[in-house]
Amino acid sequence: MNKKTVPFTEEQIRSIIAKYPTPFHIYDEKAIVDNVRKLIKAFDWAHDFKEYFAVKAAPNPYLMRLLQKEGVGADCSSMAELELCDKVGISGHDIVFSSNDTPYEEFKRAMELGALINLDDISMIDFMEQRGPLPDWICARYNPGPLLQGGNDIIGTPEEAKYGMTREQIFDAFRILKEKGVSHFGLHTMVVSNELQVTGLIHTAKMMFELAAEVQELLGIDIEFLDFGGGIGLPYRPEESFIDYDELSAGIKQYFEAIMVPKGLEKCRLSFECGRAITGPYGYLVTTAIHHKHIWKEYIGVDASMANLMRPGMYGSYHYLSVMGKEDAPKDHVYDVVGSLCENCDKFAVDRSLPEIVDGDILVIHDAGAHGHSMGFNYNGKLRSAELLLHADGTVTQIRRAETLDDLFATIDFSNL
Ligand SMILES: *Cc1c(COP(=O)(O)O)cnc(C)c1O
Repeated sequence: MNKKTVPFTEEQIRSIIAKYPTPFHIYDEKAIVDNVRKLIKAFDWAHDFKEYFAVKAAPNPYLMRLLQKEGVGADCSSMAELELCDKVGISGHDIVFSSNDTPYEEFKRAMELGALINLDDISMIDFMEQRGPLPDWICARYNPGPLLQGGNDIIGTPEEAKYGMTREQIFDAFRILKEKGVSHFGLHTMVVSNELQVTGLIHTAKMMFELAAEVQELLGIDIEFLDFGGGIGLPYRPEESFIDYDELSAGIKQYFEAIMVPKGLEKCRLSFECGRAITGPYGYLVTTAIHHKHIWKEYIGVDASMANLMRPGMYGSYHYLSVMGKEDAPKDHVYDVVGSLCENCDKFAVDRSLPEIVDGDILVIHDAGAHGHSMGFNYNGKLRSAELLLHADGTVTQIRRAETLDDLFATIDFSNL
């Protein structure tokens, strides 16, 4: 269970809306900081533990700076995300570049910034070497494929995922890289997504410890960096529960002590690349009800659309919805809450029991702080919304303005028309 609350009153949000019209995304600064501190503290037993925030989840430099101050690094997978790191002042091993199908310019930029390069495939060794020097530190991404079966049925089906290398390729890649003079090695994997069962996450860590131990036995390589990827889940539904970081940490510690410590690998840096778990629950999409219609079903039309939050339309994801000022009102109406795209999947909620909604009501869509604004798009000429940061004292900073039609048309030269 988790209680879905909002960090502002109706009066507060209406005064924010008076300055910044809906729709917008608003992030709760204090809640993000408290949350990431809790995660880092849970792993204080681990030497040099690092959370690398998956920039794609919320690529806003102000959020990155906030996290940077807490000792959080950045997990990047594109040129734009690397450039954002440069602007924020994140560099060196505070960046892990976990990309796939990577153009060389992106490897090059990542190496310029001193990032830890995480190779998605064994073919990347030749690909990089033909174009320039290899970095001295290399991490390899592992895809256990069907080998994971029997371990834990919570973990999905990695053999269907495009990422990473097979077990054999990991050993081959490290052998080749060692011959070529690479001297520092890491291992990465990401086999779960939005995982709410702590055992699935612990099992991933155990699998990686065992792999690191085998790499040492077979190749004489001491793994210095282990990255468990992202994937800590978010309880989107009120009946679901948050992952308990202390429980996660204790489970991982147990296997670390049993597998890594006896190998002399106690100094290995452990890390996560969580995005969703860090900002997801603390970002809200705020929108106004502007229409209602009654046909075969009851509809509420809002001024946000799937262009502001793609998850419900793309994955059928559930997002909790609050109607400001009606938090305690009986949920005696059943609505589809929809945006204005000419796509019938543009619905924030389907057959949802809610209090009666009238035009002008403020609706808050919860858990939109990761893979929310960042997945925004311009279909139907919809403009991406503003992003606001709500401070602990109730004040607000606009950390990205809303797009304008001029932004949308900026790439068209109308003079040749
Ligand atoms: C998407 C992604 C993440 C972040 O996933 P979350 O679900 O936001 O935790 C981390 N690492 C890699 C390589 C990813 O592709």
